[in-house]
Amino acid sequence: MSDRVTGQKAEVIVLGAGIVGVSAAYAVRQRGLSVILIDRREPGSETSYGNAGILSSGSILPLNKPSLWRALPTYMTNRHAALRWDPSWAIRNIDWLVRFLGNATTSRIRPRAAALHGLIGASLKLHREWIVKADAAQRIRETGWLKAWRSDAVAAAKEEQAFLAEYGIASQLLDRQAISALEPNIVPVYKAGLLHTETASVDSPGAVVMAYARMLVGSGGEIRQSDIKAIAPDGEGWRVVLADGAISARHVVVALGPWSADLLRPLGYRVPLAFERGYHREFKPNPARSLQRPIHDAEGSFLMTPMEQGIRVTTGVELTARDAPSSFAQLDQVVPVARGVVEFGEAVGEPWRGARPTLPDSLPMIGPAPRHSGLWLAFGNQHIGFTTGPATGAAIAAMIAGAPPAFDVGPFLPNRYL
Ligand SMILES: Cc1cc2nc3c(=O)[nH]c(=O)nc-3n(C[C@H](O)[C@H](O)[C@H](O)COP(=O)(O)OP(=O)(O)OC[C@H]3O[C@@H](n4cnc5c(N)ncnc54)[C@H](O)[C@@H]3O)c2cc1C
Repeated sequence: MSDRVTGQKAEVIVLGAGIVGVSAAYAVRQRGLSVILIDRREPGSETSYGNAGILSSGSILPLNKPSLWRALPTYMTNRHAALRWDPSWAIRNIDWLVRFLGNATTSRIRPRAAALHGLIGASLKLHREWIVKADAAQRIRETGWLKAWRSDAVAAAKEEQAFLAEYGIASQLLDRQAISALEPNIVPVYKAGLLHTETASVDSPGAVVMAYARMLVGSGGEIRQSDIKAIAPDGEGWRVVLADGAISARHVVVALGPWSADLLRPLGYRVPLAFERGYHREFKPNPARSLQRPIHDAEGSFLMTPMEQGIRVTTGVELTARDAPSSFAQLDQVVPVARGVVEFGEAVGEPWRGARPTLPDSLPMIGPAPRHSGLWLAFGNQHIGFTTGPATGAAIAAMIAGAPPAFDVGPFLPNRYL
């Protein structure tokens, strides 16, 4: 145990330096409180590193929506690129599955869409402000996000457009010619498209988190690299036990993404957190055939995003244990299909795997732990955590300071499950 670490104090300790933790720590500093951010790795090295980099204005409909029921028979075959699942995991986690599917009803659409709309709106505002402050504005592209269908899916595209419009989210319906005009370098395989015009994307999500972490340090925050072993109430505050010592604070924020539930179990909280795992692989782009924006191939169930290192192809969902060995079946399935859309060269680096942390209602937990004062929960941001990290963190900072968050946190409060 190092003496240097033991005994150190701050007003707030944030656990986990993904997009959520870095954002929480920065927002805490902005409110004038002292903060220490702890992670065993460099900021933005895990889930916040390997995502598709989309800052999505329109992801207000979670995956567990009524249309999921129609897709279930196909998903049961375990061959679809959108979803692979491990039967033994499903048996062990039947309770989570029942609750997740229980939210896929018509009556549960609008309350969750309204909640996510508030969170996303507040978060995009912060991203656009912070990325400039962090000197990383060159990484953001305001070119939208294209969802594209190979079939004649105009009706589906129109339905989605009308739904988004109800929340004031703009999008444009495109036919084959309009898609070619927008993305001249792709093969014209798509008949219909919906361009989410208010969505942005970045060319390296990991680098953006790192830039926000530098901004935190610049504002007087501290970052420590250490393995977090446990947290325990300590007088008026909290003691955080690290591999190399222990530190304490009045407030502790748990922002450990897919690892968040582990640390809370000894305190008596059984968090129903599951892992929607996903993969990416990057490929050398052909500079003469570049992509302008992320494209979601709706029927192929994959995404292609132009990134700093190359074209990043990301997969759908694999439902299994967080740490189960990787299976590259989905990547193997979608990469040849992606090659049929845009020309790219050999792979750059190794395939990457991450775990989207998801609660049964697909809403993150943002707020105080119900039975412990000074303990704050900020995780479960599922498929849109890179988008929603800043406002998730800023809401926690506001609540710690006794100020109102920028959006309605009611639907996200942890006491709905704990
Ligand atoms: C394939 C894929 C594509 C995605 N695409 C998008 C997208 O385009 N747009 C979008 O908005 N979202 C996307 N997401 C979702 C998004 O990436 C996540 O929701 C988000 O990154 C979660 O951030 P986080 O800060 O909660 O977790 P993380 O980034 O995982 O951070 C948690 C941190 O906790 C640390 N940690 C854990 N345990 C310990 C410990 N014991 N001691 C010390 N440190 C510890 C880890 O090292 C890690 O840095 C995607 C996800 C995947 C998998």
